[in-house]
This record gives sequence, C-alpha cells and structure tokens, in this order.
Amino acid sequence: ALVVRRRMKSTGRWARAVAILKEMEEKCGTPIGKLRQVADAMTVEMHAGLASEGGSKLKMLISYVDNLPTGDEKGLFYALDLGGTNFRVLRVQLGGREGRVVKQEFEEVSIPPHLMTGSSHELFDYIAAALAKFVATEGEGFHVSPGRQRELGFTFSFPVRQTSIASGDLIKWTKGFSIEDTVGEDVVGELTKAMERIGLDMRVAALVNDTIGTLAGGRYHNKDAIAAVILGTGTNAAYVERAHAIPKWHGLLPKSGEMVINMEWGNFRSSHLPLTEYDEALDTESLNPGEQIFEKIISGMYLGEIVRRVLCRMAEEANFFGDTVPPKLKIPFILRTPHMSAMHHDTSPDLRVVGKKLKDILEISNTSLKMRKLVVELCDIVATRGARLSAAGIVGILKKLGRDTVRDGEKQKSVIALDGGLFEHYTKFSACMQSTVKELLGEEVSETVVIEHSNDGSGIGAALLAASHSQYLEVEES
Ligand code: BGC
Ligand code: MG
Repeated sequence: ALVVRRRMKSTGRWARAVAILKEMEEKCGTPIGKLRQVADAMTVEMHAGLASEGGSKLKMLISYVDNLPTGDEKGLFYALDLGGTNFRVLRVQLGGREGRVVKQEFEEVSIPPHLMTGSSHELFDYIAAALAKFVATEGEGFHVSPGRQRELGFTFSFPVRQTSIASGDLIKWTKGFSIEDTVGEDVVGELTKAMERIGLDMRVAALVNDTIGTLAGGRYHNKDAIAAVILGTGTNAAYVERAHAIPKWHGLLPKSGEMVINMEWGNFRSSHLPLTEYDEALDTESLNPGEQIFEKIISGMYLGEIVRRVLCRMAEEANFFGDTVPPKLKIPFILRTPHMSAMHHDTSPDLRVVGKKLKDILEISNTSLKMRKLVVELCDIVATRGARLSAAGIVGILKKLGRDTVRDGEKQKSVIALDGGLFEHYTKFSACMQSTVKELLGEEVSETVVIEHSNDGSGIGAALLAASHSQYLEVEES
C-alpha cells in the first residue's frame, strides 16, 4: 500500500509540474495575430515618440547622426564600447575609398561587477585607465599626423539624451548597471575628465548608442542598411528616419534630409505583450522596476532568469526536484542565458548536457530523462516568446518605413544589421526570430528584407562616425 501511495504522490507531483509548464506555455503564446498587434503597437508608439518629447514609452532619441559612413573615412581612430559585461577598446586605421579598413586591433576588458553599481568616478577612471593602456601599445600600421590629437568614438549602450554628436546626458542605466551619480550627467564629460585625470590626450568626436554604431558599421558594408537591432545582454533598435517625419525635432533640417533615431525599444510596453506572473516578479525585484519591460522578456540578461523562476516554482509547488527546493535554484540570475541555450540545443538522446548543467550550476543531480525533457521544453517556451516578439518589433520598424509591402512591384532592398551575443550564439533564438520575420512579412516582401550579422559593427561604426565628425575634417576639406 505504501508503494502505491508513493507512486500516486509522485504522479501527482509530475502532473502539477506539467500543469505549471502548460500554463506558462499558454501565457507566453505568440500566435501570429498577437504578433501583428505588437508590430502595429510598435509603429504607433514610434509615431508618438517622434511627435513629442515624452510622448511615448519609446523615447525615439535623436542621435545627431544625419549621415552614415560612405567609405571615404580616413585616418586612425579609436573606439570604446561600453554596455554589457565587458567593454572593448579598438583602434582602426581607415584608408578611405580604396583602403577601407587597413588595420584594426581591439582588446576586451571585463568590468568588475562592483564597478557596475559603484560610483561614476570609479567606473570612468577604470575605463580611461584601460583605454590609456591600450593607446600605449599603438604600433606599426597606425598613424596619426604629427601634432594631431587622437580621436575616439564612444559607444555607450544606455539611453542618452544627446545634446550634440559628441555630448549627451544619461537618462537612466539599464541592464546590470546602476550608478546614481551618473544619471543626468554628460557621459562624454565624465569620460573626458577621467582621461584628463590620468593624462590621456584624446577627444571624443562621437558619442553613439551601440545600435547607432551597428547601423553605421552595417552601412559601411552595405548601402542598403537602414536599421540595426541589438539582441544581447539588452535589446534595442535604431533606424534611418526622414527628418521631416520627426515633429519634435526643432533644429535645422539636415542636408541629407535624414536623421538616425535610437528607439530604445527595450522600454516598449503594450497590453498586447504576453506577460506572466514570473515576468512581473522579475520586474518588481529588478534594479529598474517598471522599466525596460520589452527588454525583460527578450534579452540575454533575463531569459535564463525567467527559466530559473519557473523551475523554482515547480520545485516549490510540485516538488519537481524532490522534497526540498534545491538551494542554488533560489539564487537570482544564477542560471544565465548561455546555460539555457546550451540546454536548449542539447541533441544527445539522453539530454546529457541538460543533466550536466542542472548538476553543475544548480547542484541538482539524478534528474530523469523525462524531467530533463521538460526543462528543454521550458527553455523553448521562453526563447520562442522572446524571438517572436523581437521579430514583431522589426516588422514594426519596417511598417513605419513603409517597407512592409512591395510597392508597384518595385523591390527596394532593406538590410537590417544585427548584433549581440543572443543573436550570435543562441542559434534557436535567431533562427526563430528570422523565420518569424518571414512569417509576418509574407514571401514576396521577405525577399526584399535581409537580416545581416554585423560582427562588432558597433565598435567599427563608432570609429567611422568619429572619423566623419573629426575636428580636422573641415580643415582638410577646405
Ligand atoms: C539600452 C540600449 C542598448 C541596448 C543594447 C539597452 O538596455 O537601454 O541603449 O542599445 O540595451 O545594448
Ligand atoms: Mg555590445
């Protein structure tokens, strides 16, 4: 009798775990009709954000980039890319139309976690020091004309209200950063002061968001690049807008008639978004409650954490991992998206990788194949929702530009430059995102839309924009 009772109990547990999973699946559902609503809402919010300052959750920030790279950029330029868990310093010798990228070197430096939530001073001192060290190793193949100051493109991947191409105030931190005294400050000023403190003579010639850098890098390689999307630790998009279509812009109309807009789509929110109780709890307990809701269901910083939260629920309510909740499972952000991706891509018949990850990261051993299958299913639910919603966002941009239909049989090409670790490394995510874009656009339009991986476009892109905004340019041209 005892044996029978235990069996029944364990079937009950299993049924409860499956019920939790099924409920998650239902709540995360992204049928095509819903995605169309999300795409439409994105287009509507884009209009609202362009119409007036604060008109929408979408900030639609003016980048002051009214010309994208042409290929004529020349000289030695540096770039500094700050935005995720690492930052990157880079130098590139640009050779103009014929030479293009003559030589480039870069270095990646990880940011000690305590600096992400410390003081502004400390963070910028750390960055400036790493940059100075890198500049000191400048060698053969790189040339600055004598008497010239070195110039830098600063990729700063957070929402900034720009006041010119080379200045702008931080609106808020996102992702894992939270440093109060930087908010409202000109980040170029902060960096410049830090460079001065250590005696590094360098001028910031362009301040750009990573989406803007990626779009610039994308355009350098492909004339048809009109938008860029980052799917990484965070998520965001930028695109080329007609200056006439930006009512809130009261400056001079640029000669090109165009202006690149940093959408800050991570902060998009709509009643059409499929949100769950897990998302709500994650948001409430986050560094930035109420903010970046789109980002929190799409991007790399959060996907693994959502999976952890659901597993935790299964452990608590269905004793999924035995009679006690595995202590590690209770630690926020312990299950990172790369781990989730590894489990999701496990093709071994016994799901060995899933077993190993559960053991190594969460210290859960002796999982059955059935349990591991359920974990994979959960990863699929969470990744699929994120991928399909990002596809809807992309289609929203194409709609705004009138590029979601083929006009008069004219097949205008739209290239979208993509970058970020999630896009690059989470294969199932990117595959799903791309097939969903096709599904939404239909076959004929799909043929005109190309999603291109812009490998480290944001670094090169910032250097290119530094080149086209160099203080020495006008002298040379006249
Ligand atoms: C930031 C954006 C950035 C994106 C991708 C978001 O959290 O707000 O400025 O472009 O992450 O790095
Ligand atoms: Mg980046």
